Amino acid sequence: MPDKNRIAELREEIDDINLKLLELLNRRATVASEIGKLQIQYSSQIYDPVRESAMLTELQMVNEGPFSNETLNALFKEIFKATLALEEKEARANLVVQRKTPDQQTIIEMADGTQIGNSDFQIIAGPCAIESYEQYEEVAAALADEGIKIMRAMAFKPRTSPYDFQGLGEPGLKIARQVANKYGLLLVSEIMDASQLHMMTDYVDMLWIGARNMQNPHLLRAVGKTNKPVILKRHFAAKLQEFLYAAEYIMSEGNHQVILMERGIRSFDTWTRNTLDISAVPLLKKESHLPVIVDISHSAGRRDIANPLARVAVASGADGLMVEVHPNPDVAMSDAKQQLNIAQFKSMMAEVRKMLPTRAVKKEHAGD
Ligand code: PEP
Ligand code: MN
Repeated sequence: MPDKNRIAELREEIDDINLKLLELLNRRATVASEIGKLQIQYSSQIYDPVRESAMLTELQMVNEGPFSNETLNALFKEIFKATLALEEKEARANLVVQRKTPDQQTIIEMADGTQIGNSDFQIIAGPCAIESYEQYEEVAAALADEGIKIMRAMAFKPRTSPYDFQGLGEPGLKIARQVANKYGLLLVSEIMDASQLHMMTDYVDMLWIGARNMQNPHLLRAVGKTNKPVILKRHFAAKLQEFLYAAEYIMSEGNHQVILMERGIRSFDTWTRNTLDISAVPLLKKESHLPVIVDISHSAGRRDIANPLARVAVASGADGLMVEVHPNPDVAMSDAKQQLNIAQFKSMMAEVRKMLPTRAVKKEHAGD
């Protein structure tokens, strides 16, 4: 059957062309990746739409068919897309935030020896906002009694409405520092603007960038120039890659003490304030070496599921959780629905301890 032989012959030719195409495609990828590396060195963009368009025009001009220019465009656009993905993957691998080896782990150590990112499970707690000396001290006493080391000291509140309580400002930080000194606690406070940096560093041990400011490069760079550990919250609409790039902004300025906090993302459901994206924890830990903390308060926006969410946070492999605690949440000046009262906080702590026979949250009392 001569026709059959001809088909076999042509198929052999196709196989041969496929191999040549494969070799050419990979050669093209290698060259493009070299260009990508040089572009990164000169800190220019990897994606160059003008260059892509020029390449397509040039190809169309010499195209003699049988493929139409439209088909040629589609084919080459796929090649460009694959090349860009490769260059981006290679560029990501060089980020400071990116995990380089399986056992790489950033451990943040505070002045009193408290660590975040080691095998302990750290709990960060405190009221949504500092409201008064009495309110703050009552929470601090309960935290100290539970062996908590890091307390929220929020004096500037990024509220949705400009007419809602905005925080006590610097007088609030003075209260927090006084109370923290009395109970041996470390303070973390949200910074809203780089101009507050100088004032704040006098009062607090750690800085905090809230969800709304995750994509504020000026502020990220400013805290990156300090030597204070920084808690960075994920914006409610940020992809994980964007979250890691925000951390990179801080780290690129030299401050590598960054802690990532997952605080829920916006979804269609109305039963919770946000949707806790628990898969973010293993993914962030897989891609990055930074400690990851789960905010069980702003993610849910309600206190009745605090205990199961705390258990979920432990089970997710997070390095800790963050929870809001208020002596009388119903009359709190912000986030009244989600703050735990002291008894609920103690119940949550008991749940967490049950989950952590080996990664124990230590309950240390003076003299124990
Ligand atoms: C907070 O934790 O104090 C806060 C305001 O949360 P977020 O920035 O996640 O909204
Ligand atoms: Mn709050």
